[in-house]
Amino acid sequence: MTPIQTEPIEKIARIQWLELQKQLLYLQKNSKFYKQLFKVHNVDVSEIKTEADLKRIPITTKEDLQQYNEDFLCVPHEDVIDHVTTSGTLGNPVNFLLNEADLERLAINEMQSFKIAGILKGDKVQITTTLDRRFIAGMAYFLGLRKLGAGIIRTGSGLPHLQWDSIERFKPNYLVAVPSFLLKMIEYAVLNGIDYKNSSVKAAICIGEPLRDQNFELNALGKKITELWEIDLFSTYASTEMATAFTECEHHTGNHIQPELVYTEVLDETGNPVKMGEIGELVVTTLQVQTMPLLRFATGDLVSYTNELCKCGRNTLRLSPVLGRKKQHIKYKGTSLYPQHIIDVIVEFNTISNFVVIVQKDETEMDLLLVKISNSLSDLEQEQLNQHFQTRLHVIPKIEMVSNSEINSLKNPLGSRKPISFLDLRE
Ligand SMILES: [Zn+2]
Repeated sequence: MTPIQTEPIEKIARIQWLELQKQLLYLQKNSKFYKQLFKVHNVDVSEIKTEADLKRIPITTKEDLQQYNEDFLCVPHEDVIDHVTTSGTLGNPVNFLLNEADLERLAINEMQSFKIAGILKGDKVQITTTLDRRFIAGMAYFLGLRKLGAGIIRTGSGLPHLQWDSIERFKPNYLVAVPSFLLKMIEYAVLNGIDYKNSSVKAAICIGEPLRDQNFELNALGKKITELWEIDLFSTYASTEMATAFTECEHHTGNHIQPELVYTEVLDETGNPVKMGEIGELVVTTLQVQTMPLLRFATGDLVSYTNELCKCGRNTLRLSPVLGRKKQHIKYKGTSLYPQHIIDVIVEFNTISNFVVIVQKDETEMDLLLVKISNSLSDLEQEQLNQHFQTRLHVIPKIEMVSNSEINSLKNPLGSRKPISFLDLRE
């Protein structure tokens, strides 16, 4: 266990604040974007001493990062080592760069994240996510496991056959995986007579899709996986811009933050902090980052937090799973929804094999919710599905039965690195 995480709460806050002040001075000295921002808003970073002071600095948005990308760079180009991209909001991907120190920081971050999930030297971890394609996550896992001294099997994404062959061959006890891919692996194992229930795998570190709800109970997807395969599922949440992972410990009551690497705020619509347990947008300030540090960066992810003591002995703040994306808020027939709510209900219904959720505007500019499914349901089944939606969400989306290939082409738009289950056509 990293010492800082078990220190008293006040001491953790003090260490975190010192790192934050260091980062502010660094930005003042090296960042063209933030120098300009401080100037325009009359901010003297040496006077930022409290959370209230910090609030005087405006939020940095994804659009800022896209529009003024080069101005965020704080080191000479010749010091940049890794070049990655992150999805932008204005269409094109956004460049994100890391120098030697950032790669080292990334490795430490991911090593600590794996430790929170209980992984030790001597464990073997199969990484079933992409390591290349200008992607940061897979590489971060690799670097973190290297630093930890754990065994690594780099199978990459897809290819259930290769995944099972590698499990058979090298006997990993952990997987790093996107949860829905675990279902694909189970399906493949069942079809091919692989005794997956008695495999070496005892747990999966899951990324990309939420596994739990706000009360930390497994959601429909989490339940479906564990009903079929009794392995322990750990959530981890991260993004390219944050360059920091938030990870569940063995008690599964929220993703522990790493306070020396990131400063977090959870803010309401008006930019004020929400209370513990309330939902707001996660705003992060990256700490100890050199190449493209971000200050009060709005992630667009809606979360809640808790600082109740965790049974694991870490005194760090914990975030809930991502409950939705701010921009993906749907108001359908008077009900407030996020795509995950609809996805949960469909997964729970259990018989829909392939689907995509679409939101668009109707002729009166109201949100219209449509679910395309690949099954051809009987009238009775359709009625049951409607009932299920009515019970769970109090509204029924429009259901459309289409071909599997139509759904697959909607789920894999050009340039997307992973299949998507939600399409927002409102813009
Ligand atoms: Zn814990």
